[in-house]
Amino acid sequence: MTDFPQGSIWLVGAGPGDPELLTRKAERLIRSATVVFYDALVGTGIMDLIPAATRRVPVGKRSGRHSKDQKTIDALIVEAALAGERVVRLKGGDPSIFGRATEELDAARGAGVPIRICPGVTAASGAAASLGASLTLRGLARKLTFVTAHARAGEELDIDWQRLADPEATLAVYMGKAAASEVSARLIAAGLAPATPVALVENVSLPDERQFHTRLDLLPLAARTALGDGPALLLIGKAMARPGTATLAAGSARQAAASSAA
Ligand code: SAH
Repeated sequence: MTDFPQGSIWLVGAGPGDPELLTRKAERLIRSATVVFYDALVGTGIMDLIPAATRRVPVGKRSGRHSKDQKTIDALIVEAALAGERVVRLKGGDPSIFGRATEELDAARGAGVPIRICPGVTAASGAAASLGASLTLRGLARKLTFVTAHARAGEELDIDWQRLADPEATLAVYMGKAAASEVSARLIAAGLAPATPVALVENVSLPDERQFHTRLDLLPLAARTALGDGPALLLIGKAMARPGTATLAAGSARQAAASSAA
């Protein structure tokens, strides 16, 4: 295969979980790899596409449970390529969004190993699709911001809340479940309306996907009580109003809050 010689690496985006959201290129690469290093977030339906004879190496990272540190992963994929393998490094969503892609790209390039990226559907796109909503909205959400609310253990979130509190933006918060209370309080303190619509989507595109609509001031409650163990994405902004309430009158905000709290 001309674009996947022995001794090379592809960083492959697996999308949010549904195997049908995989690109055709990703599927081809997965099928022609000799070894696949995969994240914990890669769905089982996607793992089923890996031929039985292909070596699979879990290097999964889930918040708080890092099975391998990033340097070890960098070393493992480079070592496999130097041994002549065709290496797929399979990552949830899109490799270039909160995927530590740069470390792996640098490690490979530093060792003279060819490495390329196959993009994937990021969790925010998958979540919007499931919600039947648009992340941008003409006149109301002219900007889309991807932010991670993951802090190192014991450290505060290093985020410029003032810049994020933009009523004309949609905010996609990755790794935000644990920090939902802080996200809510800080954005409101920075001037975002308490009634700003919020959608939470857990296990995007998977059979056990769950969606919740709430509002910014009730987000902590929703995150605490409604979400389970799966990965979850928070989407904040006017574009996330329930279908048919795009401009969100106060009444519909109350209604949305009441029904999501129920
Ligand atoms: N590269 C990934 C993001 C990795 S960071 C992407 O582009 O989607 C991990 C975070 O992504 C999770 O904490 C969660 O916020 C989000 N995420 C990834 N997969 C998800 C899924 N299937 N459902 C909901 N959120 C998901």
